[in-house]
Amino acid sequence: MTTKPSNSEPVPCPACGGLHPPESVFCPHCGKAVGGLRYVREEFEATRRRYEQFADVVTRFVSAPSYFGVHILWVAVWMVLNSGVVMAVRRFDDPPSYNLLALLLSIEAIFLTGFLLVSQTREADYERKRAELDYETAVQTNRILSDMSTRLDDIASRMERIEADLRKES
Ligand SMILES: [Zn+2]
Repeated sequence: MTTKPSNSEPVPCPACGGLHPPESVFCPHCGKAVGGLRYVREEFEATRRRYEQFADVVTRFVSAPSYFGVHILWVAVWMVLNSGVVMAVRRFDDPPSYNLLALLLSIEAIFLTGFLLVSQTREADYERKRAELDYETAVQTNRILSDMSTRLDDIASRMERIEADLRKES
């Protein structure tokens, strides 16, 4: 699990790498608990490839409400311009089918599906990794607790023996 630093050594922050006095519990810069702990999110961010970064940016953008607003606006403008209402503009996509608009929206949907899948797969990997780390920590905690319990039992039986010896002597 974690390597216990000696009392005089500075404790590193696993997220930002800053060194802090041994008595510190949380990093004042990023708020993470200091020590030899692991943070799955930071590990994942560090190993993220370029296309995954791009997929995450796209996913964040398309899940924002402004994305829908922009789409409603440009589709409405497209339809108005091609309806013939605005005389100054020559039609470039005939109603009512709007073939070019349908094609563009289909291409966009294909690309967005790809980016969303990349992002979703990464999120699933992150959740799985975090669950593994939780399990690992639970197992290690359980081992430490059972070891402490054994030692406490040992101390208790030794004390009982000492008390019994003292009673015999008195
Ligand atoms: Zn930090």
